[in-house]
Amino acid sequence: MTETAPLKLFNSLNRQLEPFQPVHPGEARVYTCGPTVYNYPHIGNMRAYVFADVLGRTLSFKGYKLTHVINITDVGHLTDDADAGEDKMEKMASAQAQSIWDIAEHYKQAYWADVKALNIRGPMNSGEPSAAHWTIATDYVPQMIDFAKGIAEKHCYEIDSGLYFDVSTVADYGRLARAVTEDGEGRIDEVEGKRNAADFAIWRKTPAGEKRQMEWDSPWGRGAPGWHLECSVMSGAVLGFPFDIHTGGIDHREIHHPNEIAQNQAYCCTNGLDNAENSGARVWMHNNFLVERSGKMSKSSGEFLRLQLLIDKGYHPLAYRMMCLQAHYRSELEFSWEGLGAALVRLKRMVIGVERLKARAELEPAGQADLNLDQIDERISNDLNTSEVLVIAESIAGMKGYASDRLAAINTADKILGLNLLTLDRTDLRIRPKAATISEAEIEATLAARKEARASKDFATSDRLRDELAAQGVEVMDGDPLGWEWTLG
Ligand code: AMP
Ligand code: ZN
Repeated sequence: MTETAPLKLFNSLNRQLEPFQPVHPGEARVYTCGPTVYNYPHIGNMRAYVFADVLGRTLSFKGYKLTHVINITDVGHLTDDADAGEDKMEKMASAQAQSIWDIAEHYKQAYWADVKALNIRGPMNSGEPSAAHWTIATDYVPQMIDFAKGIAEKHCYEIDSGLYFDVSTVADYGRLARAVTEDGEGRIDEVEGKRNAADFAIWRKTPAGEKRQMEWDSPWGRGAPGWHLECSVMSGAVLGFPFDIHTGGIDHREIHHPNEIAQNQAYCCTNGLDNAENSGARVWMHNNFLVERSGKMSKSSGEFLRLQLLIDKGYHPLAYRMMCLQAHYRSELEFSWEGLGAALVRLKRMVIGVERLKARAELEPAGQADLNLDQIDERISNDLNTSEVLVIAESIAGMKGYASDRLAAINTADKILGLNLLTLDRTDLRIRPKAATISEAEIEATLAARKEARASKDFATSDRLRDELAAQGVEVMDGDPLGWEWTLG
């Protein structure tokens, strides 16, 4: 690359694009709010991690030494933002009559399977040193208690239900959410004894006479940490305050992140947010939501949109990654099966383009010149414009030059996109529902026999073979302009 475009990112704290200036020269330290492992993640949740992964890949592409932490919340996240609900983990554990630890383990593994399938960089996908790594909330409880002790005297007060953070003790509370805090707009004052409607629990005492599955001793009695505390503690412990970038879904811009910021301010003994560093991180980034009309994104609906459901219906998981990359992370994205199908077709075309280049490269001398990749750098440096990087990656196949050079350029684009463009095979992308019983080898053999019959103008046999396949759910698609020779319905 001849020249590096400056990286600009949209900072939610200031609601503007800002040039990225790392706290530690040459390094990038990123914290991403991770899943609460009380249930399977839905594909909307996974959009948040695809976004964080693209951010991480971009920082690596631009040469920063990346440290990327994602947390696993296995305690403390309540069903209700107003601190009055139940712990999501405790609730699921009693509903399923299992221990919380088993529930956490099961859903953590399910989440990691989705991370792997979506080619999000992590230990499960690559041993790259700059891939993300995960911290588990319950491993950090002693540090949480220490953090709370450090801020309790000046910023917290104790009531029957626990230790609460007084949001009036820090400057600019709620700036990230653009909330009016004096009357606690947007908050429900459900807990008896709170000083301000927006005050939140740092430590939740186990009510007298009750026993929680997960509880620890603390100066404020036996109980469990609040959810917001976890993220402040893990981000500060692993990355150090201030770190560079904090990410999450846009819902976190309203309550969870303002509360993390308030705690970070209290802990670092700093004040106003005119200086973003006082929030604990220089940049706060939020992905917009994946939305769906029929309500199947809700975890309470029967057939909710898990990645596994897409896979069971026969879609390659990277088609969903493609769907995410086609939209800008700050735009809402509507999920539809048609949209997923279109993303799959686009991915398949790119993979076919790569296959053709590979075949050509074998017949050509090795390339000499590096293709100019400035455009990729420019587009991704403009607040992660993945949709334009996709267009460039597609156009590389048709550029002039040696096939090997073009393959190298596509490989470079794919370092950011993460679509495995050089290793996927077009047959990997066939729609193959789990319910299908016929094997691919059988389909191929029947199609070969049908081809022979047609070649010898034996149309009766050709039609019979086609009907036989149809009876087993295989639709033969002769001359399909999108190149699907058959699909399994
Ligand atoms: P949770 O496990 O509920 O804490 O959510 C995990 C992540 O997914 C958080 O960053 C949320 O902000 C994000 N998220 C939740 N719903 C959606 C959605 N429909 N689209 C995109 N991100 C979401
Ligand atoms: Zn968080």
